[in-house]
Amino acid sequence: MAKHSRVVKVGRVLVGGGHPLSVQTMWKEPLRADGFDEALRIIERLEALGCGILRFAAPDIEAAELLGRLAGMTGMPLVADIHFDWRIALRCLDYPIAKIRVNPGNLGAPWKLDEVAAKAADKGVPIRIGVNSGSLPRDLERLPDRAEALVIAAERELEALDARGFVAVIVSMKASNVTDTLRANELFASKHDIALHVGVTEAGPLVQGCVRSAVALHGLLSRGIGDTLRVSLSDSMENEVLAGREIVALATGERSGADLVSCPRCGRAGFDTHAFTARWRDAIYAIQKQVSIAVMGCVVNGPGEAKHADLGISGAGDKVIIFRKGQIVHNCDAASADTLFGEELARL
Ligand code: SF4
Repeated sequence: MAKHSRVVKVGRVLVGGGHPLSVQTMWKEPLRADGFDEALRIIERLEALGCGILRFAAPDIEAAELLGRLAGMTGMPLVADIHFDWRIALRCLDYPIAKIRVNPGNLGAPWKLDEVAAKAADKGVPIRIGVNSGSLPRDLERLPDRAEALVIAAERELEALDARGFVAVIVSMKASNVTDTLRANELFASKHDIALHVGVTEAGPLVQGCVRSAVALHGLLSRGIGDTLRVSLSDSMENEVLAGREIVALATGERSGADLVSCPRCGRAGFDTHAFTARWRDAIYAIQKQVSIAVMGCVVNGPGEAKHADLGISGAGDKVIIFRKGQIVHNCDAASADTLFGEELARL
């Protein structure tokens, strides 16, 4: 999103230079040779929810090969996350991997980085340098200013690639602390035109992680700092994508798909808005149009919200009312509500 940052091509996604912010997530399990069909179904679901780039850990050669094979089966840009062993990076680059995440400093001897950088350049594959507050070099660990330490660590890695003429670089500097994440990215963006992958690392479980990530990322993205993002949660990939998507909408004022309003439910609720929202969440967020949906529990606020939405549903005593563009289209019992709501959703 940052207009001044260099554009990097990650598979079919352009990152930087003012291109739309892409939301990423990371696969949570090891890939299995007999799990490709299931993996492709999950990738399809993540893509429908708004995932633009998907990262996998590649801890060994076998994982690199499985990931490489999977990358050949999907249009989703798949990223290999590699530490320490340059041979894994080289093996990934034999396949249509969209990007590798590797820190030059932990590959060992300089000639290993020579090989990786040369092969990545040859294949047109970008590299993300990912600096993390939990794994800073020992000399930087001692610096009192963690944000500055993150920036120096990133600059060192950057210099190593620069010295090899490798320019298709994305940088991330993540801390588990919101303030350090904000300051490190601000400082780096004031000095460099490198595209930034932004996120709070190890942000925590769903609620805490969403709050911390929203504060940090809104602070950056609303000022044009950051080109792609991940919300790192101790929770599902789907929730990481939805959280990222919501943060992008709030920071940019641009929503790419559906907007869901749902009431918190109370003792007045005529039907269970929590369960209904959980059942319909993925279908609603997979809508590729800018539509508003309201799911409300009772007549106190329900008809008001539902009327202003493209599609609304509200409890009303022992009945459920469905609104379409402000007009009541169904007055039904709760048992029929899902079917009728689904039909109206399909018509949007
Ligand atoms: S809309 Fe009704 S059920 Fe939902 S929180 Fe408000 S008063 Fe309670």
